[in-house]
Amino acid sequence: MKKLLFADDEESIRLLYKEEFEEQGYEVILAANGHEALEMFALHTPDLLVIDIKMPGMDGIELLQRVRERSRHVPVILCTAYGEYKQNLETWASDEYVVKSANLDGLMKKIERLLTK
Ligand SMILES: [Mg+2]
Repeated sequence: MKKLLFADDEESIRLLYKEEFEEQGYEVILAANGHEALEMFALHTPDLLVIDIKMPGMDGIELLQRVRERSRHVPVILCTAYGEYKQNLETWASDEYVVKSANLDGLMKKIERLLTK
């Protein structure tokens, strides 16, 4: 079973991820902030990470950098609200980014694609 780690400061979004992706047959690990995400990353060695950019404390960009210090190859998808960060996204070391939406189809397809690479 493939393991996905989701880092998002909003509980409703974490629960949505858990429900939807467990239903798709993934093991889902949740983190409410960057520090928790790094702990979970060390503990569970997930196959892929989905990281919210806007989180209090350590934001998603810093978390991505810290993850990259630990693993250069694990796929990372950054999530952003519409219109934010457009310019910078390509310069960051993520594999993909998605604009946040209650419809997770786009995110699901990106995850599948990255995991079958
Ligand atoms: Mg957020």
